[in-house]
Amino acid sequence: MLELVVIGNGMVGHRLVQALCDRDSAGEWHITVLGEEARPAYDRVALSSYVDGVSAEDLTLPSLTVDLHLGDPAVAVDRDARRVTTESGRVLPYDALVLATGSVPFVPPVPGRDLPGCFVYRTLDDLDAIRAAAAEAVARPGAGRRSAVVVGGGLLGLEAARALRSLGLSPQVVEIAPRLMPVQVDEGGGALLRRLVESAELAVRCGVSVNGIAEDRGRLVATLSDGVELDADLVVFSAGIRPADALARAAGLPVGERGGVLVDERCRTSDEHVWAIGEVAALEGRTYGLVAPGYAMAEVVADRLLGGRATMTPEELDMSTQLKMLGVDVASFGDAQATTPGALEVVVNDPVAGTYAKLVVSDDARTLLGGVLVGDASKYAALRPLVGSPLPADPVAMIAPGGVELGADALPDSAQICSCNAVTKGAVVHAIGDGADTVPALKACTRAGTSCGSCVPLLKKLLVDSGVQVSKALCEHFAFSRAELFEIVASTGIRTFSGLVDEHGTGRGCDICKPAVASILASLGTGHVHDGEQAALQDTNDHFLANLQRNGTYSVVPRLPGGEVSPEQLIIIGEVARDFGLYTKITGGQRIDMFGARVEQLPAIWRRLVDAGFESGHAYGKSLRTVKSCVGTTWCRYGVQDSVGLAVALELRYRGLRAPHKFKSGVSGCARECAEARSKDFGIIATDQGWNLYVGGNGGFTPRHAELLASDLDTATLVRYIDRYLMFYIRTADRLQRTAPWIESLEGGLDHLRAVVVEDSLGIAADLEAAMEQHVGSYADEWRGVLEDEEKLARFVSFVNAPDTPDPLVRTREERGQRVPVALGLPGVGA
Ligand SMILES: Cc1cc2nc3c(=O)[nH]c(=O)nc-3n(C[C@H](O)[C@H](O)[C@H](O)COP(=O)(O)OP(=O)(O)OC[C@H]3O[C@@H](n4cnc5c(N)ncnc54)[C@H](O)[C@@H]3O)c2cc1C
Ligand code: SF4
Repeated sequence: MLELVVIGNGMVGHRLVQALCDRDSAGEWHITVLGEEARPAYDRVALSSYVDGVSAEDLTLPSLTVDLHLGDPAVAVDRDARRVTTESGRVLPYDALVLATGSVPFVPPVPGRDLPGCFVYRTLDDLDAIRAAAAEAVARPGAGRRSAVVVGGGLLGLEAARALRSLGLSPQVVEIAPRLMPVQVDEGGGALLRRLVESAELAVRCGVSVNGIAEDRGRLVATLSDGVELDADLVVFSAGIRPADALARAAGLPVGERGGVLVDERCRTSDEHVWAIGEVAALEGRTYGLVAPGYAMAEVVADRLLGGRATMTPEELDMSTQLKMLGVDVASFGDAQATTPGALEVVVNDPVAGTYAKLVVSDDARTLLGGVLVGDASKYAALRPLVGSPLPADPVAMIAPGGVELGADALPDSAQICSCNAVTKGAVVHAIGDGADTVPALKACTRAGTSCGSCVPLLKKLLVDSGVQVSKALCEHFAFSRAELFEIVASTGIRTFSGLVDEHGTGRGCDICKPAVASILASLGTGHVHDGEQAALQDTNDHFLANLQRNGTYSVVPRLPGGEVSPEQLIIIGEVARDFGLYTKITGGQRIDMFGARVEQLPAIWRRLVDAGFESGHAYGKSLRTVKSCVGTTWCRYGVQDSVGLAVALELRYRGLRAPHKFKSGVSGCARECAEARSKDFGIIATDQGWNLYVGGNGGFTPRHAELLASDLDTATLVRYIDRYLMFYIRTADRLQRTAPWIESLEGGLDHLRAVVVEDSLGIAADLEAAMEQHVGSYADEWRGVLEDEEKLARFVSFVNAPDTPDPLVRTREERGQRVPVALGLPGVGA
């Protein structure tokens, strides 16, 4: 048996061993793996999910039957004697040696970089240390929200900043380049990315570097090249990586100009017994900081060790990246910076919708070379595999909103569907033909979709195109659609996420199923949204019962049913806004929005409003927002019905009702339609005989007018129909599906809906009405619920301790006589 020693137990070393074990059926190799980290190999790409509650066990890669020595790094390689010595004194002879030592974070040589409170972001141990320091900072008595400085605004820096935010700190990203993610995105994409990142509560400073870090009364102060000083509890360096090639250098192996062990197209170093793969390897002098090129190298070496002839070239390596940051979509693939001679760039930039898309094509506009997507990366899965292939359609139409839908049929068989694992469309189609009829089955037999997961939508498309009925499962933790899950919750009486996942799901849940289940539980009137473990399921807005706005401040919107407000109420709103320094604005939905509240101010603001008889307007929730009304017969000489009275009654009836998406209503007192009721999810227009009911009107990205469901209804029938319509929507729509696409998705569309609501064709009308009565009967104001419960208030307590201390990262300037936010380092933002 031949001896293989692998130094490094990271993702790429693990992939090599897995590939070799899979293929070495003759048992040619005995494998020994040396790991510097004391843990088994884990998914570093998903590292940031660790701070969101994913455990180290969840991240651990499958164990393999090899001699594995953890926490025992190799310290010397004797190439003449073909022996590796470890820190503990182990001596391991080898026939083949693979260096898979990865990289180390680059920490710029600034004074103070070693101070306590300075960290790097690379391993689970790093994250444990960051988490402990963040918890200590947050718990420390004293003023305001705790802050952090992240040095580096690349992919990792932004991930680190997001992680720090979820640990309760206000991060500030400092990037030396003029834009974020300078390697992946271009100038146009970078400008939009910055806007999106800032609206996700991360402050950004580009074009400056950190010159030094000093200690000041238990905190850190980072001095920037422009002289600005930033206070921080933690500094995290994420300024790039350097290949961990010290061992190779000491063993006399040639390294590239910028580091990394030089390898040829077989991934072999200058020594025929030594190979290098992953981030430590420099192929044609260049290193690769992504997992897909490393996996490709691992496959080549596994093949070579078994006598194969596999090779690779830099051109074959996939450098696509997608930012895994909640709420900020950014992806780049292929020649994103258009460096190919003669390359043309096609750009669709929509600053209003917040999307930027660029395709880079060859000089004859026939071949796709690469692209950048910011704001909406949904086309990434379909576009990335097309790199190097002929364009299947006009490039503008491929990225324009509402342009051509790229089906999997546009791809050649050789197109790589999963770049992490180098799986082609041909291989996926073949596996489907062999009986793999679900995404998990495809994952199991091809490995596609098992790493970063960005190709999963394309796997689903390929299954559909092959005539396979694709599961509507909510996510990998629940094999049910949202509608099925709703029925399970409604019929079983299960009222907790953990109970539901234990009995009807698997794992611990994710960002998809947790808020979806939270919404289902809330729709069923299972108490306050912060009760028990429900609190942990909510997204940021529901978490604080207020709308998160720019700069990390919140806006507060009291309910004004039907838009009616008394002079006394107006005075109180004015006083609250004045006393807390809030910017006020009348919204498009007949509300008064008060902006600029800090988290710690929210309870005090609510207290004043609740004492004055106001309640939450639910502007933060996926729930009823407003019922807008005109003045109707109360004032208008054209009015034929009391539109205000009906709007008030409907708003009070449906307030607090949680749904798959936010929904709105409007009531107009005559056909002149001054309340714009037909742009609402349900709209009512008065007639001489009663009320016309319209449904499925949506604003947003795809505006749509509502359509007539029933006419000339008396008020009691109207309310009954709306009860049925809303409950039917809440029970059967998909996650985050608005009413218009939901009606379109119903087999039979509006006619079917009319049959269910008006004729009770499914025999469920009584059920739907009873569910609505249950909601109406159990409604309670959520703000009051927090104010009356010390435990719920506790989440605001650390800030209430210092209610008058402003967040150091929140700045405002005056505009038209009111205070508006300034995003730090970007004086023009908000204008
Ligand atoms: C937070 C984060 C997010 C990322 N996101 C993405 C992403 O979205 N997409 C993507 O493609 N890539 C991403 N990456 C990069 C990706 O994780 C790396 O490309 C990949 O892990 C490289 O694998 P590797 O095996 O070469 O190195 P590593 O995973 O770093 O493994 C090397 C291992 O070798 C060990 N080692 C070093 N020296 C010795 C020694 N002398 N003896 C024994 N062991 C030693 C190290 O301790 C380490 O455990 C991300 C990285 C991080 C940190
Ligand atoms: S919709 Fe009719 S009733 Fe209402 S304000 Fe306009 S004109 Fe008057």
